[in-house]
Amino acid sequence: MLWSLLKIILFVALITAAAFGVIYVMDQDGGLTLAVGGREYPFEPIEVLVVLAIAMILFLIVLKLVGLLIAVLRFLTGDETALSRFFDRNRERRGFNALAEAMMLNASGDGKNALSRARKADKLLDRPELTRLVTAQAAEEAGERHLAEEQYKAMLSDGRTRFVGIHGLMRQRLAKGETETALKLAERAFSIRPRHEGLLSTLFTLQTEQAEWDGARRTLAAQVKASALPRDVANRRDAMLTLASARERIAVDDAGPAGDAALEAHRLTPGHVPASVTASRVHLHRNSPRAAQRTLLKTWKIAPHPDLAAAFAALVPDEDPSARRKRFEPLLQAHPDHPETRMLKAELAIADEDFPAARRAMGDLATTAPTTRALAIMAAVERGEGADDKVVRGWLAKALTASQGPQWVCTNCRATHAEWSATCSNCDAFDTIDWLELSQPSASRTDSAAMLPVITGILGSDAQDEGSPIESEEHSVSEGSTAEETGTVPPETNPMTGDIDGAAMDETDLAAAAARKETEPAKSA
Ligand SMILES: [Zn+2]
Repeated sequence: MLWSLLKIILFVALITAAAFGVIYVMDQDGGLTLAVGGREYPFEPIEVLVVLAIAMILFLIVLKLVGLLIAVLRFLTGDETALSRFFDRNRERRGFNALAEAMMLNASGDGKNALSRARKADKLLDRPELTRLVTAQAAEEAGERHLAEEQYKAMLSDGRTRFVGIHGLMRQRLAKGETETALKLAERAFSIRPRHEGLLSTLFTLQTEQAEWDGARRTLAAQVKASALPRDVANRRDAMLTLASARERIAVDDAGPAGDAALEAHRLTPGHVPASVTASRVHLHRNSPRAAQRTLLKTWKIAPHPDLAAAFAALVPDEDPSARRKRFEPLLQAHPDHPETRMLKAELAIADEDFPAARRAMGDLATTAPTTRALAIMAAVERGEGADDKVVRGWLAKALTASQGPQWVCTNCRATHAEWSATCSNCDAFDTIDWLELSQPSASRTDSAAMLPVITGILGSDAQDEGSPIESEEHSVSEGSTAEETGTVPPETNPMTGDIDGAAMDETDLAAAAARKETEPAKSA
């Protein structure tokens, strides 16, 4: 920057000096007189300037000619390449000048002119590995994608430029959103440069987006090898990839190696709820319900979560409510004051039709942490105790505008998800879905729209039949029915219902998914 400024100042100073010089010479009376052999040749001042300029040009030409003469003499004395070197040197110099200009124009964003300079450089220089790259960059800058693609493709034939060519093509595909082709190109580039950090990161993203879990694990290993990731981040990602892969394979009923992988994922991240739930299913599938119970309890002790309670309930299907209450004791004792524990305790009591116990379990939770679920539980308690419709309706009306409580939320795009997954279906980010409470309740107006049928349903069914609300709840979960038919408590918070078939893993998945699906309309922001 400073250098350019100096050059400009110097240039202006020179021009000014030359202008003053010319004016000075023009102002002189007379002129220059040259005396040769007794005769005098007078020159006007302007003639002197012209002669000087011509002399300078002649001097430069003579310099060139001397260079050529030397080259000819060398050629004649046996240096066969002297002549071609002389001409090549000139050509090369002009070529590199054009290349440098192209690069500068490119950097300044003038793709069109950069492209013409790059083409000139390509003609003058025999350095395709350089000129192709600069031409491709200029073409991209000028928006001529096809030309850029041609150049990148041409680079593939040369070992020195193959990686750059593949990388350029990959970036083009990514920009166009053709992620499948981009992934293939990234894999090819990876085979050439397995330690390129930027490429590894792109490859990992593409693989996780397309659920290529095994490939992503290989990339992760390469990232660790290239010291591109901290150890703990790599371990966590590895566990999540293992889990994602295991969950997928368990879904197609292959609980052998996939099961082992799921248990490993739980061992690596004992506090991770989906890993724990998946591991418990594997244990159950392998006929060790005690191990399944221990798995869930271990994670519950780290952080209580409704999915753990639901999985815990599913371990013993067709259990009567009082037996279930008893079996849940170790879970309830782990964090007795945790809201999750209190609501779980209340739900178990409601299922056992012990409404006063449910009310005791809730305590002041509905006023201190009034989530939709807490308020719905209170409505169920009131109804169970035979309160007026007005009272029940009051609780449900509050539930309409209440916070949803913690949900599976993508920490990258804030989208809410009905269930955990390794990649966010909204923004494709990997391992960003976390169990959080959104600070702002997500669109309570759409919530109320989804809740209205619940209210009308509960009041309508009240008028028609005398059946307990709990029965209708159980019905709703077992049938995977819609929110219109559900009772008071949102089904996802319903671990005490015994309708989930714990033995058949696929069905468990489906039932759990169906149960959560029901609250999905209320969740989507
Ligand atoms: Zn997201």
